Amino acid sequence: MSKKVKDFGIEKTLKNLGIKDENKGTSTGGKYFASGKILESYSPVDGNLIAKVKTSGISDYDKVIETAEKAFKEFRLIPAPKRGEIVRQLGQKLRQYKDDLGKLVSYEMGKSLQEGLGEVQEMIDICDFAVGVSRQLHGYTMHSERPGHRMYEQYHPLGIVGIITAFNFPVAVWSWNTALAWICGNVTIWKPSEKTPLCAVACQNIMNEVLKENNLPEGISSVMVADHEIGQRLVDDKRIALVSFTGSTRVGRMVSTSVAQRFGKSILELGGNNAIIISKDADIDMSIIGAVFGAVGTAGQRCTSTRRLIIHESVYDEVKNRLAKAYGQLKIGNPLDESNHVGPLIDTDAVNMYQEAIKKGKKEGAKFVVEGEVLKGKGYESGCYVKPCIAEVQNSYEIVQHETFAPILYLIKYSTLEEAVAIQNDVPQGLSSAIMTQNLREAELFLSHAGSDCGIANVNIGTSGAEIGGAFGGEKETGGGRESGSDVWKYYMRRQTNTINYTASLPLAQGIKFDL
Ligand code: NAD
Repeated sequence: MSKKVKDFGIEKTLKNLGIKDENKGTSTGGKYFASGKILESYSPVDGNLIAKVKTSGISDYDKVIETAEKAFKEFRLIPAPKRGEIVRQLGQKLRQYKDDLGKLVSYEMGKSLQEGLGEVQEMIDICDFAVGVSRQLHGYTMHSERPGHRMYEQYHPLGIVGIITAFNFPVAVWSWNTALAWICGNVTIWKPSEKTPLCAVACQNIMNEVLKENNLPEGISSVMVADHEIGQRLVDDKRIALVSFTGSTRVGRMVSTSVAQRFGKSILELGGNNAIIISKDADIDMSIIGAVFGAVGTAGQRCTSTRRLIIHESVYDEVKNRLAKAYGQLKIGNPLDESNHVGPLIDTDAVNMYQEAIKKGKKEGAKFVVEGEVLKGKGYESGCYVKPCIAEVQNSYEIVQHETFAPILYLIKYSTLEEAVAIQNDVPQGLSSAIMTQNLREAELFLSHAGSDCGIANVNIGTSGAEIGGAFGGEKETGGGRESGSDVWKYYMRRQTNTINYTASLPLAQGIKFDL
């Protein structure tokens, strides 16, 4: 471990979170076990090996599923507000471990310490939210068309929820799903990204404390640190009632088809290609801050990262020049050092994709206003640090239509708002979108049915990030799923319509007569 990182107290963090040099990757709540191959987790911050995890093998898989099936039979009988109480305790534990978990997220994934802590705060927030919802899992009561009949809807738990997550939100997405799945009476099995296995072990360690303190049976919340093979098994397994998948559109497309093939349920949270429209009536200062944070935050590795700026021709040059100046001031380096703005990409494969995208863009005609570069030398030994760059493009370029998970920002010029909205919508993805304007007409048009086609549409806020209280997700190739707030809990339950006849006759619906 480098001296610099020692200064940031990583060793102590790992110890506090129960991470050893060698860990096992499967837990159903009790002792860890694992029969798969060894996974080594290297930090993109300094390239050092953090720790090893023995992954879940095929022989562990059935054990996990069978334990979860058994646990579900018990867990669904606990009243929802009591399940909420367990989620409340998870939130309390997360408060206790926030500093350590946030630091581990930063060190293993590479996002800034502030963003790592923010991610843990999201976990705490979803726990608080879910506690409230645990007392509000209500359905409608309807008037029956038949006399002496009562009709109503109720929601029941689904069973086992399989959670497959991406590397870029290595802890929050698990908690969004688990907190809601739990209050709804489901049990969960988590297959985290193989790029951030230690974050998953740390979360399960925290979870195991909650399970133990409440004397809960094993199988309510399990983890399987493993590669895509175990992920695929979860996807194909009829015993998994709901697969909540967060990841790329490429993998999501396969997941979607496989789950649908067996008539399972899925929540798909896939790639984005998010744009901010900067209007002639925008507050330019605000727009620059929103655009820069959206494009370079998490080194462009958020599903909601700003990838395209659609700028009115009258302010185009001003925005371009100010962005170039702002990019010149960015400090790129160790994300645990709070004076840096931009940390590393997750690994060298991601760096290669960044370079490929730049090359492809240039071939298609992109004009770089701020050039990209892979950084070398002191502090950049991991080989994962790149310079955020800006290019002037046409929206129709193939590379612009594609989500590159790196800090590459595309500038596109427009003249009418209708044209800007058409450009914004003219990509396969539909996650997050924004307009910067002080003009009410423009704002309302953007939010109307003739406006943005995305799951998230903001006014005078960038595209990046979201609050826990709203439903989160996107349309088109982003998958159509919704997670976290609002009435998203309904995705984790099955709806049942009940009709009770309290008369001595049996009238049929629609006035049908069937006399014997
Ligand atoms: P990825 O698709 O490579 O991997 C995601 C997960 O899928 C990993 O756990 C991986 O092991 C698993 N997986 C791979 N192949 C599988 C298969 N055949 N069956 C089942 N599971 C399989 O994605 P990534 O690189 O980890 O994450 C980046 C992507 O995730 C980006 O596209 C980003 O936009 C997206 N993302 C979306 C959201 C959202 O809410 N919309 C949030 C975070 C990330």
